[in-house]
Amino acid sequence: MALIKFTNRGIYCPQGDFYIDPWHPVDYAVTTHGHADHVKWGNKNYLCHELTKPILKQRYGLDENVETLPYGETIDINGVKLTLFPAGHVIGSAQVRLAYKGEICVVSGDYKVEYDGISTEFEPVKCHTFVSESTFGLPIYNWQPQSDIFEQISNWVDSNHQKQKTSVLVAYSLGKAQRLIKNLAGRYPIYVHNSIANLNEGFESVGVKLPATIRITPEIKKDELQKGIVIVPPVMTEGRWIKTLQQPAIGVCSGWMMVRAGRRWRSADAGFALSDHADWNGLLSAISATGAEEVFVTHGSTAVFAKYLNEIGTSAQEVTTKYGSEDDEETLTKAEPEP
Ligand SMILES: [Zn+2]
Ligand SMILES: [Zn+2]
Repeated sequence: MALIKFTNRGIYCPQGDFYIDPWHPVDYAVTTHGHADHVKWGNKNYLCHELTKPILKQRYGLDENVETLPYGETIDINGVKLTLFPAGHVIGSAQVRLAYKGEICVVSGDYKVEYDGISTEFEPVKCHTFVSESTFGLPIYNWQPQSDIFEQISNWVDSNHQKQKTSVLVAYSLGKAQRLIKNLAGRYPIYVHNSIANLNEGFESVGVKLPATIRITPEIKKDELQKGIVIVPPVMTEGRWIKTLQQPAIGVCSGWMMVRAGRRWRSADAGFALSDHADWNGLLSAISATGAEEVFVTHGSTAVFAKYLNEIGTSAQEVTTKYGSEDDEETLTKAEPEP
């Protein structure tokens, strides 16, 4: 019997009797990371990496029924050996390795292969079966090194400052925001939206060292914000608050900016193709490093990506799941869950 089954509740391990990132409530859910499409409220028990626990607490109020596991440590669940490995996607994100009677299966969750300076670096794991995401599984997606992107962002911020404009970076609260903070810190004060400040506090409570930021409150003057860098989640983009800032210039940080004509998105002044997912070559290199005989593809461009894998001799099939992308166009306009 295969080690995983795709059921209408989610990815199920029959031998261990648990689910990985189920989308309907179950007794035992292994959680790869804290993004909303991977965490559903209402499971009886959760298992996640220790750095994901504060996110489950902040965003979903989960605490007592959350067990944690560090990377590389193995536990036994009904005879299935389960180990978490870093997925490099956001802080605390994990790939789940299952081993049972010589058979090894790895469920990637979301991942990226480039080190972002803040999330534990992605580690390829050998396996027979690999469940890969394919959010950006099209050959047009080729990220520039993040050092180049951060140089573009810094130049944009500098030019805004010269023009007395307020630099507003739009970034998902979990992942992208911490990555921006880590890589932009030092030159200007960084002001963050409540949803980001709350997550940062959660991370700090478990020992993650983040550069200093300032929580945006009504008391902070608009000319102070103009002198710094403002980071807000996508839901704020079309809201009224941004319009109250001094000459706001909006820069959207998302992988989808890669294919935007003129890199414009709605009211955005700039788009930066910074993604927490692997690009086309990243996905291919990660899959090849697993040595997997069988690949299941979830998220995004599943059909194209699975077809291509078969063409290059890797047996692959697309799987229909309820995973979306925290980073996709639809989500960029949707409200985030309240912390
Ligand atoms: Zn994610
Ligand atoms: Zn996802």
